[in-house]
Amino acid sequence: MTSINLADRTVDLGEWARRTPDATFEFTRAVREWLAQNLVGEFALLKGRGGPGSEHEFFAERLAWDRHLAASGWTCLGWPTRYGGRGATLEQRIIFHQEYARANAPARVNHLGEELLGPTLIEFGTEEQKQRFLPGIVDVTELWAQGYSEPGAGSDLAAVSTTARLADDGRWHVNGQKIWTSLAHVAQWVFVVARSEPGSSRHTGLSFLIVPLDQSGVTVRPIQQLTGTSEFNEVFFDDATTEADLIVGAPGEGWAVAMGLLQFERGVSTLGQQVGFARELDAVTEMARANGTLDDPEIATRLVRARIRLRAMRANAQRTLDGDAASSGGTWGAAAAAGAASVAKLLWANWHRDLGELAMAVAGPASLIGPTETVEGRRNEIADPEHVELDEWQRLFLFTRADTIYGGSNEVQRNIIAERVLGLPREARE
Ligand SMILES: Cc1cc2nc3c(=O)[nH]c(=O)nc-3n(C[C@H](O)[C@H](O)[C@H](O)COP(=O)(O)OP(=O)(O)OC[C@H]3O[C@@H](n4cnc5c(N)ncnc54)[C@H](O)[C@@H]3O)c2cc1C
Repeated sequence: MTSINLADRTVDLGEWARRTPDATFEFTRAVREWLAQNLVGEFALLKGRGGPGSEHEFFAERLAWDRHLAASGWTCLGWPTRYGGRGATLEQRIIFHQEYARANAPARVNHLGEELLGPTLIEFGTEEQKQRFLPGIVDVTELWAQGYSEPGAGSDLAAVSTTARLADDGRWHVNGQKIWTSLAHVAQWVFVVARSEPGSSRHTGLSFLIVPLDQSGVTVRPIQQLTGTSEFNEVFFDDATTEADLIVGAPGEGWAVAMGLLQFERGVSTLGQQVGFARELDAVTEMARANGTLDDPEIATRLVRARIRLRAMRANAQRTLDGDAASSGGTWGAAAAAGAASVAKLLWANWHRDLGELAMAVAGPASLIGPTETVEGRRNEIADPEHVELDEWQRLFLFTRADTIYGGSNEVQRNIIAERVLGLPREARE
């Protein structure tokens, strides 16, 4: 079985680059050269660091790396130049993410600011809010957290019960609890969906507020995850306050802003993500070759299937982006566009979770024990010093259990596809 062709490891730039003119190739060359010349020296040890389950690794160094990127104009590429971006095209943004992943550059620390809050402010914010907050995202001096989920409101975000009240002191007073708040322990700001109209229900009466985390009314308590690390937190608001004008959109109309932000969540970075997936699959394949499990027909078949599914995923992502680029023209209908993000999420989340399981099967009994060596900087930065340090495959296996939950769970994605694309009857709701 070792003769099975598991080649095709090279992840090329895809159809985008092949179809685009010289300027795009020049852009590709510029990105590639910059990464080759800069991901060296003190930054070289950051290669491959900070991914899922390893967000604690080398945080300060990765922050320095992000600021280094910013100093050369490689953050917020797609933003208009007047807000500090490059006004990059869709193709250029895809190429940047692919090249970034190909160079094995570290996970970015301000994804939530750059990919979610920034674009939302550009679309919904006031000019004052843009001037106040966008520069801090571009130069990575202010980090952000997303305060949507609550203990009683996750998939069903309209059930949020955190309240916001504009008091006589001219400030919003926020009370309630958020949960699963990624990176709140390192961020300066959180954007919060809160109920600002007493007695309102569901999608009405909500407001989208920007709240500083560094204040006495806010308590951030890390949650230890399966991996032993703490990427997310509980955030308690106990009469926390924020300025009256730090509301995005009109009071009581935060739902539209909150939903607008989620559209940015499924951005072009997914094509870069797939370059990382290909690297992980290559490494699992190498592990199978090295420990002999590649001779096991079942393992070999799973590896081949994973590679085929990865190709299908890439084809689907490109088709989706083609559809976006072609807007409503051709065969790409509005219903398909609405469901495309859900199809993409289902494909990648389940692929990645399955890869974690496959890695455990390939590692065999060795996957049941902790590694004997601790890599510098990988020691958990958590309260539990007894926690066993995991190797990269154990971390992948455990963290990818979350992939099918965050950003909309499998079940929620299937509901969207069923109702909005296939036109099946809506599920019963209160
Ligand atoms: C790693 C990670 C990071 C996260 N980061 C953040 C963050 O930074 N900020 C933030 O606000 N949130 C964050 N979340 C929270 C995430 O958005 C929620 O976990 C997700 O929305 C699901 O909500 P829930 O956990 O309350 O589960 P629930 O909504 O209670 O769902 C429980 C189960 O019921 C299923 N279910 C729910 N509704 C339906 C339905 N209508 N039909 C069929 N099945 C259904 C779900 O699929 C799931 O299996 C993060 C989560 C994870 C895992």
